[in-house]
Amino acid sequence: MLNDTTQNDLVIDIRHLTRVYGTDDATVLALAGLDLQVRRGEFVAIMGPSGSGKSTLLNIMGCLDRPTSGDYILDGITVSSLDRTELAIVRNQKIGFVFQSYNLLPRLSAVKNVMLPLLYNTEVRFSDEERHEKAVAALEAVGLGSRLHHRPNEMSGGQQQRVAIARALINEPAMILADEPTGNLDTKSSVEVMGLLHSLHSSGATIVMVTHEPDIAMQAERVVCVRDGTVVSDGRDGAGHCLDRGGPNDAR
Ligand code: ADP
Ligand code: MG
Repeated sequence: MLNDTTQNDLVIDIRHLTRVYGTDDATVLALAGLDLQVRRGEFVAIMGPSGSGKSTLLNIMGCLDRPTSGDYILDGITVSSLDRTELAIVRNQKIGFVFQSYNLLPRLSAVKNVMLPLLYNTEVRFSDEERHEKAVAALEAVGLGSRLHHRPNEMSGGQQQRVAIARALINEPAMILADEPTGNLDTKSSVEVMGLLHSLHSSGATIVMVTHEPDIAMQAERVVCVRDGTVVSDGRDGAGHCLDRGGPNDAR
């Protein structure tokens, strides 16, 4: 199942994806035949108005949900045909998630939070000591070597998001998925977190980030705009907005 015979350098190959919510006369077509390819090492921002299907797309990309129809190949694995157990394994090994609300476990220290994905790694079994060492190294890499034993509520929002990024990286995923990673942060923390994503990108990470902030989107090398469940523009002009119309209202 986890056979990485990637034929090319596409990390994401999505073909004619649909996702229908609900049944009978109360159905919503959240994704309406969406196509998207992401190459290894790309930094992509996804924008689009509220209700356009961004979260639905991110959930499917992150193996949290399955499409109604269409194909999704993630790092050479045909994800659209996997069952829930297989999806969970792929999710753990291939995806690093960063959420707007950090999603750290409140009762665990930074180092314990970062260790968690290693515990669920079914491919490689690490000893407690190895997990601890790896988590410490990951936290040092995001500049939090002095906060190893702090709990989330003892850290600033920016620090919590850096813990979340360390956690996202711990299993060396094929791709980082970030949903509004700076949405809850002040300007300074937001700059720090984006700086971290930039340095990950320069060291080869593939990053897909949903945002409604044009100044955040323009920092990605590619801006994909989704509307009514399909891609309506896909640009690399660095403008940080949707090329079909643009403007701040459009970005929400
Ligand atoms: P976005 O993240 O761009 O705001 P979503 O992916 O959340 O958009 O939603 C796309 C469409 O699907 C919207 O019309 C939304 O109301 C609908 N939708 C999302 N999740 C569900 C759900 N669990 N059940 C029914 N409809 C949903
Ligand atoms: Mg959303």
